Amino acid sequence: MAHPDPNDILFERARAVIPGGVNSPVRAFKAVGGTPRFIKRAQGAYFWDAADRRYIDYIGSWGPMILGHGHPAVVEAVQRAVLEGFSFGAPTEREIELAEAILALLPSMEMVRLVSSGTEAAMSALRLARGATGRKTIIKFEGCYHGHADALLVKAGSGLATFGNPTSAGVPPEVVQHTLVLEYNNLAQLEEAFALHGNDIACLMIEAIAGNMNFVRASAAFAKRCRELCTRHGALLVFDEVMTGFRVGLHGAQGVLGVTPDLTVLGKVIGGGMPLAAFGGPRAIMEQLAPMGPVYQAGTLSGNPVATACGLATLKEISRPGFFDALSARTGSLVQGLKDAAAAEGVPFSADSEGGMFGFFLLDALPQNYPSVMKSDGARFNALFHGLLDRGVYIAPALYEAGFVSAAHGEDDIAATVAAAREIFRSL
Ligand SMILES: *Cc1c(COP(=O)(O)O)cnc(C)c1O
Repeated sequence: MAHPDPNDILFERARAVIPGGVNSPVRAFKAVGGTPRFIKRAQGAYFWDAADRRYIDYIGSWGPMILGHGHPAVVEAVQRAVLEGFSFGAPTEREIELAEAILALLPSMEMVRLVSSGTEAAMSALRLARGATGRKTIIKFEGCYHGHADALLVKAGSGLATFGNPTSAGVPPEVVQHTLVLEYNNLAQLEEAFALHGNDIACLMIEAIAGNMNFVRASAAFAKRCRELCTRHGALLVFDEVMTGFRVGLHGAQGVLGVTPDLTVLGKVIGGGMPLAAFGGPRAIMEQLAPMGPVYQAGTLSGNPVATACGLATLKEISRPGFFDALSARTGSLVQGLKDAAAAEGVPFSADSEGGMFGFFLLDALPQNYPSVMKSDGARFNALFHGLLDRGVYIAPALYEAGFVSAAHGEDDIAATVAAAREIFRSL
């Protein structure tokens, strides 16, 4: 090996100064093995690594880059904002504009607070739900991710509808003792949890289309029952739409399912690639937040003027008539192409998509919950991942992650991806 790969050199340097060489764990390729690619630049549907190899990008920064990289209108808005100043620690008109734009698209929300990350938004929504209801217990579902706040880093305990155990060191069991962890799409467990704990439940938090156990939809009946039980027991229904908001459709998973949550958590697309997230809901609940109410929440960089410019420009583009029809059709053609390729090569395969978000499984049928997602064959997935990577196609480096198509992905990119996948399917 005369010339070491520049990605290997960078990874070695990174590991000396950053734990695991990465600033967010899944980037490390731990699940699939190998050296993470260090990205130099990106444009449209592509990015280039340190060795100047080009990849078709199906991660899109894990969701935000719905327009593709370097969209001219977004770049211009950000450049203009930068010249006006990076951060003021005082309110700006652009924060109002972004709040108005979000509320116009998500009628379940009457007020919104801007923050800087999805973790922060989910954590704050949780505190607000507890503050507004005066209750402690929360429900979450196995396989849903709501950022890394202590109370949400929890897995199911033993037995049905029990309180959970921490999934991370450094989270004392006492901190998750009020978190109930249920199986996704399991109506019987949901009923039991409310029957046992209904009067103590502050909120039920859910990814109504889950994107952190690959791609799994809540069934219409399940989502509807979550709404009914929360209403009956005075608990708040919280949709974590950090991934699905402005990604599965212009009105989020709540628009797709036709279910109205009390609180909505947003992130990813609303920042267009900049650190920006939000949470919101009815006025009476949101006015419980400081400085109006007793629930404390704050942020030095919240509503940052450059991030809001980026988010606003992104929302403007995706609000154009026909945007999501075209994006859904493109994503649908990828999913159909992959299904056909797998069928032609006799590989068990199932896939689903909504808007610009998709998931596929090396399984005969679409899984309905986390344990069935995890029945996927890891070794085969890894072969597929590395086969695609070698052919210039970058998908998420773990089988429990969703994929993302942007408006910049062309039919030729889809065709190249499907052709690459078919070659690998043949060898599986
Ligand atoms: C990404 C994500 C988060 C966390 O957002 P960060 O900005 O990474 O903190 C929370 N919830 C869901 C559903 C997500 O997909």
